[in-house]
Amino acid sequence: MTTLNTDYDLVIIGGGLAGSALGGSMALAGFRVLIIEKEMKFRDRVRGEVLLPWGSVEAIELGIYDVLLENCASEAARELFFYAGVPTKPRDFRTSTPKGTCVLSFSHPEMQEVLLGRALQSGAEVWRGAALLELRPGAAPEVDVEFEGEVRQVKARLVVGADGRESQLATLIEFERTRDPPELFTGGLQLSGDLEIERALYFFCMRSLGGAAYSSRTSPETSGSICCTTRMLCQNAFRASGILRR
Ligand SMILES: Cc1cc2nc3c(=O)[nH]c(=O)nc-3n(C[C@H](O)[C@H](O)[C@H](O)COP(=O)(O)OP(=O)(O)OC[C@H]3O[C@@H](n4cnc5c(N)ncnc54)[C@H](O)[C@@H]3O)c2cc1C
Repeated sequence: MTTLNTDYDLVIIGGGLAGSALGGSMALAGFRVLIIEKEMKFRDRVRGEVLLPWGSVEAIELGIYDVLLENCASEAARELFFYAGVPTKPRDFRTSTPKGTCVLSFSHPEMQEVLLGRALQSGAEVWRGAALLELRPGAAPEVDVEFEGEVRQVKARLVVGADGRESQLATLIEFERTRDPPELFTGGLQLSGDLEIERALYFFCMRSLGGAAYSSRTSPETSGSICCTTRMLCQNAFRASGILRR
């Protein structure tokens, strides 16, 4: 086992939205940051691709809004709401939200790449394809990480678990987990091709089908995604609105 005498201020397990944003900002503030990410390449998962206006406020304060906008995201300034296929009056986010922010939409894996890249550029060290093996809590917590074919022992002032809802770190430190019984089911669908529609956040609500769906363009150019909640099927959302083509 190799023991590094490197001391990090912060070791972050997980290079998702949370870990990368935190790591980048802390590195910019002058702290020594190590981010441990298990994936070499981010794959598409059913995950958040719409940052709602209040999230945009946070993103601006964190300094990641423009980074996302310039590299992988597009803005949706209006919400177009369809109830049982009937459009209601569009909502303009810039004039109806407390800070005049709108929605930011992106492909989740692209967003992860961009934010992890920002963390790296800001001075954070990033170990990709690394596996967390052990965590020893304490005044100066230690983690054992397998990286580049060897086991490395790293000491830090603070270890942050940003490894998602199945958090291995939470398991290692024996956090108790509770789960509510499932109520809502959510699925996602990634679309490609130019939809030739306004860059807006679309909501489709169908009480008869017991569900709702939303859709947005996830890339500045050509693709979009649709996310459905509860029993509603994506196809029904399209039929209900009649405004989107496949
Ligand atoms: C269907 C769906 C729709 C959603 N829609 C929205 C939405 O529209 N808007 C919104 O704001 N939010 C939405 N969310 C929530 C949003 O996706 C999450 O809140 C967000 O992705 C959490 O980010 P995170 O960085 O905490 O975790 P994650 O995105 O889960 O990232 C965790 C990272 O840690 C890495 N990792 C995991 N384990 C380890 C390990 N042991 N060692 C090293 N690395 C590890 C993973 O590879 C990953 O990169 C949605 C979620 C789902 C499931």
